[in-house]
Amino acid sequence: MRVVVAGAGFAGLLAAWRLAQGGCDVVVLEARERVGGRVWSDHLIPGDPRTVIERGAEFVLDGYDVLRGLLGETGLGLAGTAMSYYEREPRGGEPVSAQQVAECAAWVAGTAAAARPGTSLAAVAAGWDGPPAALAAYLSRIEMTDGIPAGRLAATVAGTVTGGFSRRPTWRVAGGNQQVAGELARRLGPAVRLDDPVRSVEHDGSGVRVHTTGGVATGDAAIVAVPMAVLRGLPIMPPVPDRQRAAWQRSGLAHNAKLHMSVNGSVQASAVQSVPGRFWTWTAADGTGQIQPVLHAFAGTEAGLAALGVADGPATWAAQVAALRPELATDPAAALLTTWNDDPWTGESYSADTITVAPGDEDLIAAPVGRVHFAGEHTAGAWAGLMEGALRSGERAAREVLAGR
Ligand code: FAD
Repeated sequence: MRVVVAGAGFAGLLAAWRLAQGGCDVVVLEARERVGGRVWSDHLIPGDPRTVIERGAEFVLDGYDVLRGLLGETGLGLAGTAMSYYEREPRGGEPVSAQQVAECAAWVAGTAAAARPGTSLAAVAAGWDGPPAALAAYLSRIEMTDGIPAGRLAATVAGTVTGGFSRRPTWRVAGGNQQVAGELARRLGPAVRLDDPVRSVEHDGSGVRVHTTGGVATGDAAIVAVPMAVLRGLPIMPPVPDRQRAAWQRSGLAHNAKLHMSVNGSVQASAVQSVPGRFWTWTAADGTGQIQPVLHAFAGTEAGLAALGVADGPATWAAQVAALRPELATDPAAALLTTWNDDPWTGESYSADTITVAPGDEDLIAAPVGRVHFAGEHTAGAWAGLMEGALRSGERAAREVLAGR
């Protein structure tokens, strides 16, 4: 059986590898000149191994069991960050402690669990009668993380893994998350074709034909593992049913960006949030256990990114980061900015659970159409938006194809 996979992110690569292990002949068509998609590891200072940065996905969080299993298979390991993704010092707003913010988060999550479908996070949060500063810091963090304002976010986001506020360990893949993609691609060898964007997909009773800029790849089945924003514009013939396409349209597309700056002098592990700025900053350990000489920053929401001037480059955001962290000797003039919403092969940072999402959309988004199957973080239900979701979706799509063999 021959399977054509579109997209060499975590989802497409793991799907292809599981199919190859299952005895299928696979080809992976990737638009970029690298694998990994939204997992993109780099060096802030070229050639300095202490400055590995993640320009896309960074944190390995609670419950990343598929990723952990894959690390075991590929001989890679996790590095503790010595900070906690879940607990951040709020700065820039009215005085409030991380403990008060965590109490607010616990209240919102508990209340949201009983809310009717379609209720927004903002509507639930409006019932909080504790310190307003705690709510401001809470909403700033969730909006930043999910990349969408609270009025459009579904209240259920409060109960997801990224909505946790109690201090727990956080990891990254030692040496860079993108190595996971590199290891899968190495095992797949020449089956991975870079710089070969998929332009359209045709399917019928006899097979699939996947048209690329360079030609056409044929097979018995296809797995389309491109981001939702790209998927919406990809011609598929015969077309995906209207109700399925409508579910794709209802899925939220988040806006997020990252910024990196080098730090001189001694650095401790830290996590500090700008409450009014809709961004947070951290310093963290690498695989050696040493704290990197790097300040990492992440921002979210369309309005948040506009206020940081990301469309015009790193300068405005870098100045705000330096002002938030005066205790660190940063170099704002040499800041590195990474954006995703303007990237033609991504078009979003990740999918988000918004009030427009209807009951049942989770299954509709992931449902196969004829011989065409779908993978990617946006098809991962509760794990959507995360590396773990991308991997789980790849395994699920591979199982679907193998089951139909
Ligand atoms: P992608 O990685 O986007 O892979 C899709 C692939 O398809 C890409 O390689 C793309 O180039 C390719 N492609 C697109 N169009 C075409 C085409 N027409 N033809 C061929 N190929 C095409 N997750 C976490 O778990 N922890 C985090 O801390 C975290 N932080 C994040 C921070 C940022 C700024 C961003 C952007 C994401 C973050 N994520 C995080 C989310 C994580 O990156 C994604 O959930 C995951 O990597 C998505 O994998 P994927 O395979 O579904 O999609």
